Amino acid sequence: MDEKNLNRWLNSRKARKAALTADTLFNGIQNQSVKDLSQAITLLESTLESDQKIAKKLISKCLPYSGQSIRIGITGVPGVGKSTFIESFGKLLHNEGKKVAVLAIDPSSEVSGGSILGDKTRMEEISTLPNIFIRPTPSGKSLGGVAQKTREAIYLCEAGGFDVILIETVGVGQSSTMVHSMVDFFLLLMLSGAGDELQGIKRGIMEMADSLVITKADGDNLEKAKKAANEYKNAMHLFPPSENNWIPKSIICSAYTNFNIDLVWDTIQQFIKHNQENGWLEHNRQIQDNYWFEESVRETLIQHFLDNPTSKEFIKDLKLQIEQKSISAIQAADILFNQLINKNGSN
Ligand code: GDP
Repeated sequence: MDEKNLNRWLNSRKARKAALTADTLFNGIQNQSVKDLSQAITLLESTLESDQKIAKKLISKCLPYSGQSIRIGITGVPGVGKSTFIESFGKLLHNEGKKVAVLAIDPSSEVSGGSILGDKTRMEEISTLPNIFIRPTPSGKSLGGVAQKTREAIYLCEAGGFDVILIETVGVGQSSTMVHSMVDFFLLLMLSGAGDELQGIKRGIMEMADSLVITKADGDNLEKAKKAANEYKNAMHLFPPSENNWIPKSIICSAYTNFNIDLVWDTIQQFIKHNQENGWLEHNRQIQDNYWFEESVRETLIQHFLDNPTSKEFIKDLKLQIEQKSISAIQAADILFNQLINKNGSN
């Protein structure tokens, strides 16, 4: 066999292997194998090119089966009670016969070396239930990259027949905005008795919320929670109405006593029905797809630029010029861009 034929043969063998693995994983996912689903998400998160190839194939296979779940984002400052709420909420859904996947976005895990859901003490009870799948946050260099992986994990879970997908964020910063762009319903958990500034809640995050839940409404805290819920309800009335004409609810609940956990679920179902009827649910998912398409283009372009040896040299030189104040940072970016475009254009 000459070299050309050998390469062709090797490539086709590689392609067959890749196809087989994507097929196997896909069948496993469709047959409700948690092991295959976990493996598939690991592949998705891998930076190896060969794994990425299989992952891409797998996503294409899963896409036609995606979109059937209710995607719920859950955000709130650390300590507000997110994981305890998810335990209680997950149990309720489980009792209703729902398959539930819990995914997370925790950009800090890369820094701390741990992950919010990696800790086994979190969500101990539901993690043992059948039909509940808990996946720790993917790690990654950029929040956008981490979020992309979570978004693709949603497709895999949906192809596996999960009815409800919960996506938790560790805090209320940029990761909340990312999660907001990939869910149907965005739930903001709040503490009573702590000022907004204390909770680091920006008005923007409140405006994104489809409903707000005051946690820990039990014992001595119950009255305080009621008062806070009323205050937030009034505050939300001042916000401009949302495009889908949904009026966000302000609910109190306790994950300890399960008080009003069912009301949260009822509210989410009402919201989904409302948005299915007015067409917003589909429309919103299309807007999200466009957003993630543009986000991916940005990520890929940046990576391509930065990894390119030629641009590395340019960048080094331009940084020096910025330092010497011979050009501004914006001018430097312009020069870099034009030089690379011309270079690629002349290739
Ligand atoms: P997370 O950091 O947002 O995930 O918060 P956790 O779920 O870990 O909860 C933080 C603390 O609040 C823990 O000590 C919980 O036991 C407590 N907690 C959570 N939910 C409730 C609740 O419904 N009532 C009361 N009283 N405490 C709660």
